[in-house]
Amino acid sequence: MDFDDTPAEAEFRAEARAWLQAHAVPKGHPDDFSDGHADESVPEAVHTANCQRWQRTLHDGGWAGIAWPKVFGGRGGKPMEASIFNQEQSKFGVTTGVFAIAHGMVGPTLMRHGTPEQQQHYLPAMLRGDDVWCQLFSEPGAGSDLASLSTKAVRDGDGWVVTGQKVWTSQAEHSNLGILLARTDADVPKHKGITYFILDMSTPGIDIRPLRQITGHAHFSEVFLDEVRIPAANVVGEVNGGWACAITTLSNERAAISGSDRGKEFNLLLELARERGATADAVVRQRLADSWTRHQILTFLGYRMQTALSKGTPMGAEASVLKLFYAEHIRRLAALALEIEGPEGQLWRDARGDAFWQRRFLAAPSIKIAGGTNEVQHNVLGERILGLPPEPRTDREVSFRESLRAGT
Ligand SMILES: Cc1cc2nc3c(=O)[nH]c(=O)nc-3n(C[C@H](O)[C@H](O)[C@H](O)COP(=O)(O)OP(=O)(O)OC[C@H]3O[C@@H](n4cnc5c(N)ncnc54)[C@H](O)[C@@H]3O)c2cc1C
Repeated sequence: MDFDDTPAEAEFRAEARAWLQAHAVPKGHPDDFSDGHADESVPEAVHTANCQRWQRTLHDGGWAGIAWPKVFGGRGGKPMEASIFNQEQSKFGVTTGVFAIAHGMVGPTLMRHGTPEQQQHYLPAMLRGDDVWCQLFSEPGAGSDLASLSTKAVRDGDGWVVTGQKVWTSQAEHSNLGILLARTDADVPKHKGITYFILDMSTPGIDIRPLRQITGHAHFSEVFLDEVRIPAANVVGEVNGGWACAITTLSNERAAISGSDRGKEFNLLLELARERGATADAVVRQRLADSWTRHQILTFLGYRMQTALSKGTPMGAEASVLKLFYAEHIRRLAALALEIEGPEGQLWRDARGDAFWQRRFLAAPSIKIAGGTNEVQHNVLGERILGLPPEPRTDREVSFRESLRAGT
């Protein structure tokens, strides 16, 4: 692929940049909300409201869902145009961060597996910024082995009654809708008895308990579900066929975690090194060159995924490679930045740049876990790219009820 903009892409970039200059605040402006905040007293609700306002502005300006079909409220453009817009947007003090789950994961899943009614009801609203979505997949006993989930949904009249517990649910407190996996048949093998639901987060029986992280923020929560009623119309795909929908969501999640434009992180690191005179140090220079190389590889991996997307190829192992590489890249970048900062790297609220690098450093371990751990991505690469023998799986053919997990 050609890495330079085509004339049409250059024109699109110029148009996007001009519109952003007229509508978005610059980086460093007092209203810049592009990167959260080190101070945990700034509530996540404020950040959510800022993202919603910006998403509405994008929608009204015709820049929401750039690569989504027009029939769903999108612009009907190319995936490369969406990528160009994101690159330009990342230079301003704005973000659509809280819509990462909605636009990056729920949207593609509903486009592929949803009914026409679900598509018309939820997709345009997502692009207007009306709805914030969360993902209720992981459970205390089901993370990497997600298909072992035990939250159950029982058919009752014209709906379902759901009982169980979810955990690590990002932005659960500020979402009005969620995607939920629940077991609807325990008498078939574990992957074959799961159903994918849309959950209205204001339904009675939902108890959200925030979990505080090392940064002081409570980004995710435990969610307890006690006889929560879900209408039958909220089933996505087939009853007991939820695993296929979950795979669509999860491969898009890997791409979403690592897919945004990350150029700014390397540029900030270089700026920091220059400001501290660290570029004169041969070891730092070597590590900066290493960071730049990784940054370039990440960019090219992003292009590879973009190419697959533009050909309509479903995302598979490419997303795992990208996510794995990004998790390692960000860990090394943040560690180098704090070394360059020296003792100042130990500061928090008073740290330079609103503790940008401190926050990246503390968040880095979570990137190795969210969206599938590094070890799980290695398994995907081993099996799907290198063709290595798969891990032994003893519970594929037995019913969930008979499997070891059901007995614990
Ligand atoms: C910041 C963050 C946000 C998140 N947001 C959400 C969210 O919004 N919604 C949601 O549903 N979930 C969310 N998660 C949960 C995330 O998907 C899980 O934490 C992840 O899938 C790992 O599951 P687990 O925590 O149960 O760990 P486990 O699966 O118990 O893994 C424990 C350890 O065992 C290793 N391991 C497990 N199986 C294998 C194997 N087969 N081979 C080799 N090693 C293995 C793992 O790599 C890990 O080191 C979030 C997590 C984080 C960190």
